[in-house]
Amino acid sequence: MILTQCAVCATELGLTLGKKCGRCSTRYCGAECQKKHWEEGGHDKLCKRIKKAGGAEQFNANTKYSEAVFHAAAAACAEDTKGQTCFICTQALHWKTKEGLVRGCACRGTAGFAHVSCLAEQAKILFAEAEENNLDGKVLNARWLRWQKCSLCEQEYHGAVCCALGWASWKTYVGRPKLDRARLDAIRVLVSGLSAAGHHEDALSVGEAQLSMMRRFGASRNNILIAQCNLANSYRMLGRFEEVMSVRRDVYFGWLKLHGKEHPATLREASNYANILNNMQRHAEAKELLRKTIPVARRVLGEGDVNTLRMRWIYAIALQHDNDAPLDNLREAVATLESVANSWKRILGQAHPETPKAQDALKHARGALAERLAASAGSA
Ligand SMILES: [Zn+2]
Ligand SMILES: [Zn+2]
Ligand SMILES: [Zn+2]
Ligand SMILES: [Zn+2]
Repeated sequence: MILTQCAVCATELGLTLGKKCGRCSTRYCGAECQKKHWEEGGHDKLCKRIKKAGGAEQFNANTKYSEAVFHAAAAACAEDTKGQTCFICTQALHWKTKEGLVRGCACRGTAGFAHVSCLAEQAKILFAEAEENNLDGKVLNARWLRWQKCSLCEQEYHGAVCCALGWASWKTYVGRPKLDRARLDAIRVLVSGLSAAGHHEDALSVGEAQLSMMRRFGASRNNILIAQCNLANSYRMLGRFEEVMSVRRDVYFGWLKLHGKEHPATLREASNYANILNNMQRHAEAKELLRKTIPVARRVLGEGDVNTLRMRWIYAIALQHDNDAPLDNLREAVATLESVANSWKRILGQAHPETPKAQDALKHARGALAERLAASAGSA
């Protein structure tokens, strides 16, 4: 992850504390740890190699990238990718790195198998081309998405593949100036990748370091909101729900003020905020928020959009806890989830990690409705 700790004793150094190796920028809490690292920690042998790689941060990114590709992503996909070839370089084993294939999107059949390094190379070239030709923001954004979404099925990568691409993008842009757009986006991709692979402590520590760096260097409101979103995800995965709710509230109202109610980011945050309200048993507030935002999402994003589906899913959960008119609410919840679970499966495929969750939510809602019907039959 991003280096904010002493390389020897792991003391937290934030962005500025401690001292650095004069050659390779490896960070220490003080002279004692630096000396120890040189004499006993093998730094005398590694220092030159780290400097040659571009310094401690770059070296770390390269190392983590290799681990994420070889030990995690390619290993996790080995079974699924047997006998297949990369849709980019057409080989089974990468000619240079010898890495195996991955697939972590919604592609089915023989589509979508690739090497992480081929996906990364493609994203890097597309983005560089847009930068060189000064293509407008929309094109730049669309090109950037190649770090996160499959170019064939247009769905986000998940799990170990998402994590490997996070390290790939961080490794590609870490050397740029601190507030460079691609560097900031790369940290964001890395944080979502770490979360997607279940490394939530790491995601939180990278996210916190990023946010304080951005505040210190005067990043835009927009970019700070994006960094806060990432943080909320990590808090959530670590079960720190009060913090999630407070960050989510800030981020939602921040987007609303900055971009208005129809912006996709505002709508995405509305669903995130509503979701945590549900988790905190504040169902009435969740319902009220979604009543306002779902019609906007249907109109602006469309019925088949993942976020529109997600909002309706969350709304159905809130409905199940609304005791004003229990039977009607439960019926509406079941109907909503039937439609959401079907669309989810059709659009994202059975292999998507949330497809079974949508089906479970439907099962649960049907169970609650059946129970309620039995109870009212019994009391009648
Ligand atoms: Zn130390
Ligand atoms: Zn050094
Ligand atoms: Zn390839
Ligand atoms: Zn795909």
